[in-house]
Amino acid sequence: MEKRFYINTIGCQMNVHDSERIHALMQGCGYRPTPFPEDADLIFLNTCAIREKAEQKAYSFLGRLAAMKDQNPNLIIAVGGCVAQQDADRILERMAHVDLVLGTRAYGRLPGIIEKVSREKRRIVDVDAGETPEEKETFFSQEPVKADLGVSRFVTIMQGCDNFCAYCVVPFVRGRERSRNPEEILSEIRDLVEKGVREVTLLGQNVNSYGKKEGICSFSELLARINSIDNLYRIRFTTSHPKDLSDDLAETFGRLDKLCRHIHLPVQSGSDRILKRMNRRYTRVHYMDRIQALRSACPEIAVTTDIIVGFPGETEGDFQETLDLIETVQFDSLFAFKYSDRKGTRAAELTGKVPEKIKAQRLKTLFGLQRVLTLEKNRALVGTFQEILVDGPSKKEKKQSGTTDPGFAQWTGRTSGNKIVNFNVKKDALFNHRIHSGAQVRVYVQQAFANSLSGEIPA
Ligand code: SF4
Repeated sequence: MEKRFYINTIGCQMNVHDSERIHALMQGCGYRPTPFPEDADLIFLNTCAIREKAEQKAYSFLGRLAAMKDQNPNLIIAVGGCVAQQDADRILERMAHVDLVLGTRAYGRLPGIIEKVSREKRRIVDVDAGETPEEKETFFSQEPVKADLGVSRFVTIMQGCDNFCAYCVVPFVRGRERSRNPEEILSEIRDLVEKGVREVTLLGQNVNSYGKKEGICSFSELLARINSIDNLYRIRFTTSHPKDLSDDLAETFGRLDKLCRHIHLPVQSGSDRILKRMNRRYTRVHYMDRIQALRSACPEIAVTTDIIVGFPGETEGDFQETLDLIETVQFDSLFAFKYSDRKGTRAAELTGKVPEKIKAQRLKTLFGLQRVLTLEKNRALVGTFQEILVDGPSKKEKKQSGTTDPGFAQWTGRTSGNKIVNFNVKKDALFNHRIHSGAQVRVYVQQAFANSLSGEIPA
């Protein structure tokens, strides 16, 4: 049966780079990578000694592996990096479950050593600084493999745009719309999933018109095919043009289990007069109708948008219509920008430019309104369980400060509706709950903030 390896890298960019070469070496030994330590036949910990905290982190990780070794005596646990180089004897003494300690200059001998450990079932320490030119070559000739692509990746499905919105340079700089072949897209996603990616965001200037020109397949058909890829957990896409959002696409939110319950649907303005000047080719009524179609198909869908304030000719009345639309739709969040001329666009030639001061005031008013709405939306989730795709330890945890309670670790992830959730989990329960980047966990939401939620995984 095919063997699998898992690498945990602590420390600097150099370690990351070494790990990428170790990754390549392991593949040369017939091992395949896995993002899950519990599925691995070999776990390699690449350590860092530059700060005490990093060293403690290494020992704490090794300590947690003891239980896994008890359950699977054939598991090989290898330690490399600076702590291994400087602390080899201590590691062997303190950690009876470690099989292999490898100094930084011994990496070129890794294939032979792995072979020896599996065959002879004995513990090996190799921190010998002397390496032959061949061994050096063995290591440095390896093409580094990006071991950790992260949990989420973008996948471009089309390029260019045919819409010519009056303010936008994209059709001029990126050319006309072209869709990629679906087979190529599917193969790229399968490859990413194989490398541990669990969420893809399909990218295009207007994904709703995917495949139309080429007559290949519709965007909803493409989504259905991607939905059937094993071990892919989530699909997102951006950006959607409201004029091209079909009923069929809206219904996919109720149909496809991996499609995240979130859509980013730029409205740009709530005034028909301004939408016309922008050449958006839909009306406010049409936009509201699309929101209705989305919410009928999937009542819990989160909706976010883009808005431009101070487009040439925008009056106070037009701006009030935008505020009214925001209140009516109740967006989960939005991006808003002050209009500015882009050379070569039709809008740059338009009269009725809005003074900077007014644009700034309108932006402030708009953000003030949205802040309240976002907080209300977030508060509505307090007291519920949310399925989270785990990104990794939270920023706070990465900064080594951790939570106020040292028995807990703080991790972070996103809901299907794309809300950030920081959650606490008992450190000794991390393995039991199978929490790692790319895991899906149910988190109980306890608090809502302007830009995130916080909660916990109950013990
Ligand atoms: S705003 Fe979007 S849809 Fe409009 S021209 Fe630019 S890229 Fe195309």
